[in-house]
Amino acid sequence: MTVALDQPRLQTLSVAHWTRASLKPVSDQLEGHPPQEILQWGVDNFAPGLVLATGFGPEGVVLMHQLSRIAPETTIFYLDTELLFPETYALRDELAARLGLTFTRVATRLSLEEQAAQHGEALWLRDPNQCCHLRKVQPLREYLAFADAWITAIRRDQTATRAQAGLLEWDHANGLVKINPLAAWSKQDVWAYLHHHALPYNKLHDQGYTSIGCWPCTRAIAPGEDERAGRWSGFGKTECGIHLKPA
Ligand code: SF4
Repeated sequence: MTVALDQPRLQTLSVAHWTRASLKPVSDQLEGHPPQEILQWGVDNFAPGLVLATGFGPEGVVLMHQLSRIAPETTIFYLDTELLFPETYALRDELAARLGLTFTRVATRLSLEEQAAQHGEALWLRDPNQCCHLRKVQPLREYLAFADAWITAIRRDQTATRAQAGLLEWDHANGLVKINPLAAWSKQDVWAYLHHHALPYNKLHDQGYTSIGCWPCTRAIAPGEDERAGRWSGFGKTECGIHLKPA
């Protein structure tokens, strides 16, 4: 069922209006609405300054499929650490062909060779926080400086740090609006949508990989393990840093 928003006047506010305080009531109002309506709200308020971030996970595939039907001209970008799995690049290419999408590559100017020369070989084995900062957090910050709002694929039930995620938030670290249309969705909701629309997904999911990032920091999980237990295994790290909120 489609539920119409009862405060369309909020859709006419200028980009500069949005703050943490002004976003909260709209976010609360959007609770219970389908992701497509949250995406539409984002398009109405921020296009062409709206961008979708994806790591080509199942949630991202859901959002790019929905966005391709609402506003296919929206920029979809991914952070290319140069350490993604071959299966992830293959999925990128399949999605581009299947959905007619173009993906914008965002990456650090620091090559892996330069990183090794400056910080030592395999930094991810010694200091994954610094490696993520160099290869993900900093390039994202530079890229988002040119956007008004970004859409992410996070879900509240993925980690404790995401449990309080709003549908709309102010991203303090990057200084823009953050839209999380799937915050209230479950893993089952995501996979049901993918299967219903016969959408492709990363082949590694069939091999026990539930959350997929860079190959040095991702492993398959054992039965009963947490969904993101295969990320930065052994480091007590659960986020790369792009979704962390200030304390
Ligand atoms: Fe580096 Fe691992 Fe972070 Fe990728 S996930 S940027 S390899 S620490």
